[in-house]
Amino acid sequence: MKITFLGTGGGRFTTISQKRMTGGFRIDSFNGKNFHIDPGPGALVRSYQFGLNPASLDGIFVSHSHTDHYNDAEVLIEAMTRGMTKTKGIVMGSQSVFNGYKQWGPAISKYHTGQSEKLVLGPNKTKNFENFTIKGTKTVHGDPTAVGFQLKSNDLVISYTSDTKYFENLYKYHKGSDILIASVIRPGNQTIKGHMCTRNFINLVNEVKPKLAIMTHFGFKMLSENPNDEAKRVFNETGIATLAAFDGMVVSINPNNVSNFKVDAIDKNIEYHESNLNSGNKESKYNKKSKNNKINNKSNTFKSYNNPNKNTKTNTKTNTNTNTNTNNNPNINNTHNENNNRDNKSNKDNKDNNNDDNDKENKKNKKNKKAFVSKDKQTSLNSISKNTFTKDFSYSKKG
Ligand SMILES: [Zn+2]
Ligand SMILES: [Zn+2]
Repeated sequence: MKITFLGTGGGRFTTISQKRMTGGFRIDSFNGKNFHIDPGPGALVRSYQFGLNPASLDGIFVSHSHTDHYNDAEVLIEAMTRGMTKTKGIVMGSQSVFNGYKQWGPAISKYHTGQSEKLVLGPNKTKNFENFTIKGTKTVHGDPTAVGFQLKSNDLVISYTSDTKYFENLYKYHKGSDILIASVIRPGNQTIKGHMCTRNFINLVNEVKPKLAIMTHFGFKMLSENPNDEAKRVFNETGIATLAAFDGMVVSINPNNVSNFKVDAIDKNIEYHESNLNSGNKESKYNKKSKNNKINNKSNTFKSYNNPNKNTKTNTKTNTNTNTNTNNNPNINNTHNENNNRDNKSNKDNKDNNNDDNDKENKKNKKNKKAFVSKDKQTSLNSISKNTFTKDFSYSKKG
């Protein structure tokens, strides 16, 4: 099982500046299934860039109707269903994503759900498949229907908070997780409406006690600090292995030994091309060199990082520390430093753009309600495809 980050930026200003990528993340080989989570702007392009075939998807999860989470959902659905010619896969997400809620969404047209199973999730709503279950988890966020999830198989539980503020019972939705992935948009104690800062995440990690915690979806203020330092802080205060995700980070996990995870960095300078999918095994793809020699003087970033400490039970502290800091791995640090330099450079220009939440957007949308165009206009196409193809969705339902 592996998790690949196709974008670790979050909030409007990181997104529109592409200070970090915003393609969400993929969970591959989870009980044989591949999922794309929150495909924001660039998700399709990043998939090819990082050697992941969008046609191999079995499911797409869209947590809510904010552009940094849904932008590329429809085009990925088209990839999953071979251009809407094949009935395949499942599309999961919030009520707003499919049906619209107040000024939010719909983010996916009816046409685009015509060839896949559709699952509207809400807090604690659970759906059983043959080898695993998915449960919706509660959020408190600008889109009131926004939802996270918990994926559970016999040997592994993965939780994703999506965008949410920290609230008293948040941990109850995510308890039992082996891996906890969270949107942590701001550093330190810098709370903001509808989102978590590092302090909030420390509380959540202490309550959930996963084996691995991963922070992602970084806003401008987070990127003006060092996200790795923030992850270190989480580790220092919780004793739990914590990663600050970076664009192109791959975490490989053996479900029977989560603590012994492995982190790889994919070269971000690989061309955006379908041929990346045909470049042989994983290792050769990671070592593929960019044509841009100026940036590619860090070709050693492709080397994989293996956790040297196998004795996870007795030595969790040492073990997690090497993972968290990645200080023992200069290759991965190179990647981070490059990110940080880029982050700090653009931070100066954006001192005023520090509001990562969607309040302003909310107000604007209220004013411009009439400007909202429903995507339901494609319904007529949906009826054509429904008549033409029959469903053969392969997940079998347990209950
Ligand atoms: Zn977001
Ligand atoms: Zn949001």
